Amino acid sequence: MLHRIFITGGAGFIGSHLAERFLKEGREVTVLDNLSTGRLSNVKALQALAPERFRFVEGCATEPNVVAPLVAESDAVVHLAAAVGVRLVVEQPIHTMRTNIGATETVLDAASAAGVPLLYASTSEVYGKSAMLPFTENADLVLGPTSIARWGYAASKATGEWMALAYGAERDLEVTIVRLFNTVGPRQLGRYGMVLPNFVKAALRGEPLRVFGDGQQTRCFAHVKDVTQVLGGLLDEPAARGSVFNVGNDVEVSILALAERVCAVAGSDSEIQLVPYAEAYGHGFEDMRRRVPSLAALEAALGYRPRTGLDEIIADLICVLA
Ligand code: UDP
Repeated sequence: MLHRIFITGGAGFIGSHLAERFLKEGREVTVLDNLSTGRLSNVKALQALAPERFRFVEGCATEPNVVAPLVAESDAVVHLAAAVGVRLVVEQPIHTMRTNIGATETVLDAASAAGVPLLYASTSEVYGKSAMLPFTENADLVLGPTSIARWGYAASKATGEWMALAYGAERDLEVTIVRLFNTVGPRQLGRYGMVLPNFVKAALRGEPLRVFGDGQQTRCFAHVKDVTQVLGGLLDEPAARGSVFNVGNDVEVSILALAERVCAVAGSDSEIQLVPYAEAYGHGFEDMRRRVPSLAALEAALGYRPRTGLDEIIADLICVLA
């Protein structure tokens, strides 16, 4: 098992859960985060959990002088630092592209120079509008036009994948790529647009659940505790290096059905409202109609995959948000 783990973006939602898992396994963890969407409260909880094995560095993953020494003293790197959340990505496209591409280049340079294996967190967004369901890792990516900011996010993360594989091919970097599908759980903020914390909060307050579009678009939701187990497993698995893996759950649900499920599990009589996309995100927005991963590659590599069911995920969120 790799012992000293360096996590960029480790104060964020997924990063802090992953850091917690590694600390509980007895590993040493260093987190680099600029606290743009990451939170100091997450860092403080990690510090309290294992003060002698946890270190926090506040800074940007785009800065080579900050990143290189931290990478060099680690046994493995997990690169999660990125602009995330559809709302943030649409509202701050320059920040999104610069952060995602710049930080990835910096981290790849440092990891290849130091000979340290790397796990790169990509996203299911790279499949774009593909209708070849379920999505398999070698399928074509179908992105929309450059005039639509959302596709810039997908392109920036796909560029990161190409860069990571290029460093693998040309500089022998041991890199594993994960495409994270919708991941939910405690500590995720609805502020950046994510649907489930917003629905649960609205249901608990008796406010309307705002379903964008016609609500027939679908997603698959995985619990963050399952996802971090997979990420840890892939990081420790040398045979996974050089490959791309979908990571998530593969049980498909429409967003309208999700809203109904949240109300049922929460025992809420909140109204469910259909809100036009233009009102939610402004004009020129495109959504993905369906998004379902094939988990065959993941299961073949690890022998397991995320399993927590939707009702349990919703119930967990109700517990922490109530
Ligand atoms: N969505 C919604 N209401 C919200 C937030 C999101 O209906 O308050 C929809 C959104 O349009 C998308 C789905 O829920 O179709 C998932 O959105 P999210 O931003 O959580 O993740 P995405 O899968 O789009 O990255």
